[in-house]
Order: sequence, then structure tokens, then C-alpha cells
Amino acid sequence: MTARSAAFVTLLLTAAAVAQRDAAPAPPRLVVLCSVDQLAAWVFANAEPHLAADGGFRRLLRDGARFLDCRYEHACTETGPGHATIGTGVPARVHGIVRNQWWTLEPGKDGRPGKLTYCVETPMPGLADLPEGKDRGAARLLVPTFAASLEAHVAGSKVASVSWKDRSAILMAGEEAGIALWFENSTGRLVTNTAWVEATPAWLTQFNADKSIDGYFGWTWDRCAGPDAYAGLVDDRPYEAVHGNGRKQRTLPQPVDGGLQAPGSAFYAQAYASPVGNTMVRLAAEAAVRGMDLGSDAVPDLLCVSFSSTDSIGHAYGPDSVEARDALLRLDQELARLWTFCDERVGKGRWAVFLTADHGVAPTPEWAKANGVDAGRGTIFTFVKAAMESALRERFGAPPEGRKYVAHVGEGSCYFDEELLAARGGDVDATRLQMARVAAAAAKKVRGIGDAFATADLLTPTLVRDELRECLAQALCPGRAGDVQVVVKPYWLDGMTTGAHGTPHPYDRQVVGLAMGPGIPAGVRFAQRITPGFGVALFAAMLEVPRPVTSAETLPAGLLGTR
Ligand SMILES: [Zn+2]
Repeated sequence: MTARSAAFVTLLLTAAAVAQRDAAPAPPRLVVLCSVDQLAAWVFANAEPHLAADGGFRRLLRDGARFLDCRYEHACTETGPGHATIGTGVPARVHGIVRNQWWTLEPGKDGRPGKLTYCVETPMPGLADLPEGKDRGAARLLVPTFAASLEAHVAGSKVASVSWKDRSAILMAGEEAGIALWFENSTGRLVTNTAWVEATPAWLTQFNADKSIDGYFGWTWDRCAGPDAYAGLVDDRPYEAVHGNGRKQRTLPQPVDGGLQAPGSAFYAQAYASPVGNTMVRLAAEAAVRGMDLGSDAVPDLLCVSFSSTDSIGHAYGPDSVEARDALLRLDQELARLWTFCDERVGKGRWAVFLTADHGVAPTPEWAKANGVDAGRGTIFTFVKAAMESALRERFGAPPEGRKYVAHVGEGSCYFDEELLAARGGDVDATRLQMARVAAAAAKKVRGIGDAFATADLLTPTLVRDELRECLAQALCPGRAGDVQVVVKPYWLDGMTTGAHGTPHPYDRQVVGLAMGPGIPAGVRFAQRITPGFGVALFAAMLEVPRPVTSAETLPAGLLGTR
């Protein structure tokens, strides 16, 4: 090579390097972990043709990446476990939030050990001016969140986490980081407590003083789109709940007033079960960004935001209802507003978002049945508890007067009375396994139950691993997950709530997964399976900070270009 051609090649290489450097965008100043409570992949797919061209979802689909297979590794598809995964990047087996509530040996009302414990219940003083926020915290979360990692590794980084539900805001951010904020139905106020701050920040005091929520008192919830957007959906179905305004009606339009003359707790509760709840969460998120000055400089900040009302509405009217469709179309507009707010506040191309859901949802059994599948509902776990108890008595003899072998069955788990277990003497684990196998066999005979396993059997590595056993195992955290795992049949629901979730079935585990931000190609689809904890892996890579917990999750090739 001559000197002249060598110089030419060098010039080309330099030009290429410069072009590449220009192509690698600056890292985002604000990253947004966004959760839409209960947004199953199938619900999103059904609504997609009806999403507006200027809506927030359409913008993510057009300008960002879509993950076609975003699913939970764990079987415990509930709000607490899901948000903990979104915040930490790992399944329930690792982060420890195995259910919204689980049986613990903490003293119950009768003083004896044993009570159902809420996932974010913890003794914690409230703030003097926001006392209703007391006794909530993330002490039961066993691993750090991405928020904690960000604050630990990037000096000056700030975090805000906002939701209607306490557990959503708290478990996405954890306790070490920033501030978690949620709404209380009793007062309609946005609250936090001394786990995060010593005094109420001025911006939060102002937000509550503004009483924006009361501006929606008496607002009429009606369909926001034309008839095509609701084609095939029936509004008046006998198994839907009535709207919470005392009028005993289950169709739109409905006034949102809680049946009151002036704003009060019944109004705030109805607001939560209407699109107003999502509007308030969007306003609160914007207030937090402004109040804490997030995304305003080169030091990256994190906003966690979870829209809860989609879940409340899905439970009350069903995911296949006019109300649920309408709430999603309205949320689409709220998301568009939030993205525009980020453009204006942080700068276009200077912020990133990963949007997913804490869990999916089952079609209402009545709707599923009308569509020709085996489906049903009932107080299934009550029957399971009785069946287990009688099988255990038959095999092991009657327990002392007034006592029961089975302390609790709910949300797919059975817990034995630990005192009775210990009183039998000998090898407690061997007895536990024996009892669990007897109880599981009894549960399997109950109508609506698809399968049941002794927890210890699921943890034994020699067993055949199929997807069901694998995702059940991913929900097992020692000391929390119970002694028997019970799985309802597909499309069968425990309880009389119109719509529900919480099973290992695909409709509960597969959720929406969308990302947009600097370096993410526009309009691409990825078939590689990701989990809803993917936002942690994505933002860790974008901001070059360590993930809080080692996870196996990898970024699909081509997602972040040259990074
Ligand atoms: Zn729910």
C-alpha cells in the first residue's frame, strides 16, 4: 500500500469512526419504567386496531421497539410480584414477593402465630400531614431495585415512583431510593411516608392542596371513541359489577361521584375504578418530575409510573368489557400527554421508556364459555381447603380439638399449621412432604383444579421440567410460598370477581412489552423472549450502570445499535 492510499484508508476509517460516534446517541437524561396494570398481551392485541394515530401506544409502536414475547418467568401473576420484577429484573423466587399477600408466622388477631400478611405492610411512621400513608414499605423485598443501583452508582441521580396502588409504587422503586408515592382512597391524596422522606416535599403539599381530583367530581364516564372501537363487546352483562355511584348500573355512561353530594372516600374509590385514576397518576408523575427536577441535567434520573385503574376496571367489568376497552383507549391519550410532557421537559430523544405490565388477565369465564371453551368459576379454593383437610385427617388422624392441619389456602398456595407439624415430631421436612403430597392429591379432585404439587417436589431437580413446573418453581421463595401449589384449570376462576388473574396460564403471564428512546430503532419487532423485568437490563445498558441483581436476561442483537 502506498503512503497516499494508506492515508486515504485512514481518512475513510476516521470518517467511519466519526459517523459511528455521531450515530451513537447521548444516553438518556430520564428513563421511565412504565407499568400498565393488567395489560395482557391478548388484551392489547384486541385493542390495537382501535388505538388512535396520535396516541401514546401508537407512538411507541412507530418510534420504538415491540417485544412480541414478553412473559413472566414466575407463576404468581399478581401486582406485588409483577412490580417487584419490573423494579428488580428478577422473578419472585429471587425478589421474594411471592404474592400480594402470603401466610406468615407473625402473630394474628388471636395472638397466635399465623396471619395473612400484605406484601408492603410494615410498621412505619406516617408524615404528620399525610398520616394515611403510614405502615407501608419495601422491607419484604429481598433484593435491591434498579432505582437503588442507579442512585448507588451515579452520584446525584434521583428517583420518583408513582402509582395509585401503594404496592406498585413501593415495589418498583424499593425503599433505599428516591420517593414512592401512591393515592389513598380514604382521602384521595397522594401520599408517602417516613421510609422515604422526613417531611412532605413542598411540591407534594402543593399537589394535594390543588385537589385536582375533586375537579373530576360528577364527571360522566362515557365512551370516548366511535362504535367500531367497541365492536363485538357487550356492555350490559349480568356478571359485571355495578359502578360505584349507588345507582346500581353496569353500563356506560356513568357519573363518577361515588353517589355523594361532595367529594369523599366513595368518590375517590369510584375514581380509582374509572379512567380518572389513570389521569391522576399521569398528573402526579408530571408533578414529581417538575417538583424533583428530574431529567434536567446530564445526570440520569428514573421515573417509575404505574397505571392501576386498568386493573381495577378489568376486575369489576372484565377485560372483555366496554369499560376496559374504553379505559385503555383513554389511557392511550394519557400516555401521549406524558410522552409530550417528557419531550418538552427533558427534550425529544433525551429520554427513554420501557412499558410493560405487572401481570395479564383471564377472559371472563362466561365470555370464554360463550366462545366454546371449558370455563367456569366458583369458590374453588374454599373447596380445596376442605378437601385437603379431610384427606389429611383420614391419613394422619384428627388434630387436637379446634385445630386444623391446613392454616390457609389462597392465591394458589396452601400453608400448613406449623405448630401441628412440629408437634408430630421426627423429621419435620419429611412429614411436610408426606402431608403435602396427600393434600395435593386431594386438591386435584376438586372441580376447577387442573393440577397441584407438593412445593418440595417442585424444588427437586430430578423431576421432569415442563413450562408449568418451571414457572411454579420460579415463584417459590423459601419460607414464603407455602407447602402445596395449586393450579386452576385454564379459564377457571376462583371467586366471584368478574375478571381475575394470578395463574401460570399464558393469558396471565404474557404481557405487553414496548421500548422507545435514544439508540432504540424505530418500528422494529423482536421475537426473542424477554421478561417484564427487561427494563432493568435495558436501562442498565443504556446508562452503563450495573444491574442490581445478576439475571440471565440479554438484549436482543440490534436493539441498541453499536452499544
Ligand atoms: Zn388485579
